[in-house]
Amino acid sequence: MTVTAGILGATGAVGQRLIQLLEPHPDFELAALTASNASAGHPYRDVAKWRIDAPIPESVAETTVRRTEPDAVPDDIDLLFSSLPSSVGERVEPAFCEAGYVVSSNSSNHRTAPDVPLTIPEVNPDHLGVLEVQQDERGWDGALVKNPNCSTITMVPTLAALDSFGLERVTVSTLQAVSGAGYSGVSSMEIIDNAIPHIGGEERKMEQEACKLLGTFDGAEIDWHGVDVAASCNRIPTLDGHLENVWADTRESITPADARAAMQSYSSIDLYSSPDPLIHVFDDEPDRPQPRLDRLRGDGMAVTAGGFQETTDGVQYNCLAHNTIRGAAGASVLNGELLHKQGWL
Ligand code: NAP
Repeated sequence: MTVTAGILGATGAVGQRLIQLLEPHPDFELAALTASNASAGHPYRDVAKWRIDAPIPESVAETTVRRTEPDAVPDDIDLLFSSLPSSVGERVEPAFCEAGYVVSSNSSNHRTAPDVPLTIPEVNPDHLGVLEVQQDERGWDGALVKNPNCSTITMVPTLAALDSFGLERVTVSTLQAVSGAGYSGVSSMEIIDNAIPHIGGEERKMEQEACKLLGTFDGAEIDWHGVDVAASCNRIPTLDGHLENVWADTRESITPADARAAMQSYSSIDLYSSPDPLIHVFDDEPDRPQPRLDRLRGDGMAVTAGGFQETTDGVQYNCLAHNTIRGAAGASVLNGELLHKQGWL
């Protein structure tokens, strides 16, 4: 069955990546694009500041952009992908769910709500089961599923791989690309020849979302993992790809070789957009991963890890993922594939 899909916030940095991934997708057919009222009513080509290094697909270039309200979107859409600013998503996404739409969203609103699944399909696909609780409690015919923040999604698959050693404490310092802030996020005057040691709210997101993602679902509730996560987030002048330095302390002893083996064999899932392997591990090159060289591994959906070293209580390593593909649009598409596979559409 082909899934009829729409994109809320289709003109933005993540919305454009969604178009790039959905337009050739074998299971999804794009049928509606929305943005702010300023863009609504105009052809997509005229209002999207297209920055992807491939042309705007012809099938969407002349599509008229719609308002982002349930009454402006066709009733027969099976799945909406949302890449709205969180302040907009906070208000609008529940309205779509109430109107019966299933929404796979990137925005940070609702990510830590107990009845909203926050999923990385290769890590915690079973958490989708909490949708039954969500629909019961909220009286929605639709449903809301979230993917995590781009910096969280970069490190969590590697942490999930190490959890068999008893993850106790994680310290992470990030070097995040400018595309993570969207078009209007960081001015060139601020970021060229510079690094900014502050990304508002990002540290708390990494600390909370990691615990929810690594938690367990008992059929009724998601029990958050007890790992103690401390994050420090920095913006640097790369275009795409978040690099992170991670220190993982474990209850059981672990060597760099153990950590590499655990990540290399960490399971994947049989979904169209899931790469195999999920985590690409560098054995012998201590200066990898690097954003420019490694962000497009697995078509931008793989996580890469390297630079493993022993520490007093565990291991230190570096990991990287493409922030607008694996960290945003690709993550939402993967959640859409999981919703489809599990029969939620
Ligand atoms: P962006 O480039 O600023 O795009 C925002 C989109 O939302 C545009 O389509 C914009 O339409 C639309 N929009 C803005 N205000 C609106 C309103 N009042 N009503 C309806 N639509 C409105 O932002 P982005 O970087 O794509 O990020 C989108 C979301 O994904 C954010 O919540 C962000 O935190 C999250 N996210 C981003 C990344 C990343 O790497 N960039 C990673 C993970 C998560 P107009 O063009 O008409 O203004």
